[in-house]
Amino acid sequence: MEDKKEKSEGKLLEETLTWKAPHIGKKAPEQCQEAQDFCTGYKAFLDEGKTERECVDYITKKLLASGYTPFEYGRKYHPGDKVFLVNRGKALIATTVGSRPVAEGVRIAGAHIDSPRLDLKPNPMYEKSDIAYFKTHYYGGIRKYQWGTVPLAMHGVVVKKDGEVCRVCLGENPGEPVFCVSDLLPHLAAKQNERKLAEGLKGEELNIIIGSLPFIDDQVKEPVKLMALKLLNERFGITEADFYRAEIEMVPAQKAVDVGLDRSLVGAYGQDDRVCAYTALMAELEADHPAWTTVTLFADKEEIGSEGNTGMNSDFLAHYLGYLADMQDADVRQLSANSLCLSADVNAAYDPTFSDVFDSNNSSYINKGCVLTKYTGARGKSGSSDASAETMARIIGIMDQAGVYWQAGELGAVDQGGGGTIAKFVAKLNIDTVDLGVPIISMHAPFELASKLDVYHTYKAFRAFYTADR
Ligand code: MN
Ligand code: MN
Repeated sequence: MEDKKEKSEGKLLEETLTWKAPHIGKKAPEQCQEAQDFCTGYKAFLDEGKTERECVDYITKKLLASGYTPFEYGRKYHPGDKVFLVNRGKALIATTVGSRPVAEGVRIAGAHIDSPRLDLKPNPMYEKSDIAYFKTHYYGGIRKYQWGTVPLAMHGVVVKKDGEVCRVCLGENPGEPVFCVSDLLPHLAAKQNERKLAEGLKGEELNIIIGSLPFIDDQVKEPVKLMALKLLNERFGITEADFYRAEIEMVPAQKAVDVGLDRSLVGAYGQDDRVCAYTALMAELEADHPAWTTVTLFADKEEIGSEGNTGMNSDFLAHYLGYLADMQDADVRQLSANSLCLSADVNAAYDPTFSDVFDSNNSSYINKGCVLTKYTGARGKSGSSDASAETMARIIGIMDQAGVYWQAGELGAVDQGGGGTIAKFVAKLNIDTVDLGVPIISMHAPFELASKLDVYHTYKAFRAFYTADR
């Protein structure tokens, strides 16, 4: 039954003057199915890309299948042409050449494809009390206590003595063994329970069990470790010395799944920030003769401060923009000054169970769409690039025109903590930049949650960003 009651003056005024981001499921319930369908591909991406290298491989495969070619410096590309450039197998930039001259600016969407995890130490194998272990050094901001008793898979590369690069992946296929960090039973945890939560498991306690049977030979000093080495050698052809030429990442073996009776959420490892990588990639693939040249960036090392030559604190992007400018005999400084960037990264979704760390009026919520984050940082916005009102206006205008559901949010309440993204490294190149991404519950945990409607509308935001001619 429709409510025929006439709206009061106050109600009309309220409608005109106030604003709150709506729940998409209430406002546009027909989109729930579209979001479900979109996330089928997203979950497959999460399962195939659990490390930065695997993401680059997946993205390269998709780009090649869609007609992209490796970028060649000095070659003249024309509007509609699609190219990509890989940086050391761990970062990637894809471009669809636009009809406008690049001197008028390009459209950049930049996500990161590294996620928090347990890296193996350079000399990781040891045996203690007849159990063989891997020693780890955690990568990125993890809450260490969350990583005990979680099935882990082994991913990475080993460069052998002769230069052969051996890909390692174990614990993902049905029937394969997984690995695990142990924790105490409650019966004996009285003393451990008195530790601060940050030390529930300590860094040097994140030791991964990899075997417990010996190689039977009285002359061998560490027979359980030897047995594990033998099995690794049979599987991958590697020896203990090869670990010094390796990058092995231990990540949750869990596959991406639907969460909730209504299947409204995706639960998976590494959604920060592969959710933005996937949604930006889909928008990039669909860019068809855009007005603005697109620059879709997949960066490494964000979780440890964007350091290193595959992280955004390197000149990789600056050089690429230089290549694009050179191609049209344009000035890269002009290109930068006129460009617009969405730093594509996630934000913390309001969690009712832990409401006191959020400002409820300035938080992002699940199912309300992609979240615009004007500034990140800590304390007095320290370490943030703080997008201008003009930049916010441009992005909001693009999204409103395309019917994208969006919201705005801070990363938690003031002085509760903080964080950063790649935004400041792009802004440093004299480019207008603002953060946009998906609100995440349990961010950086082995199992993170994202709303499918939010994933879908983040994709819509990137698509609008690339197709808008404004
Ligand atoms: Mn992130
Ligand atoms: Mn992160």
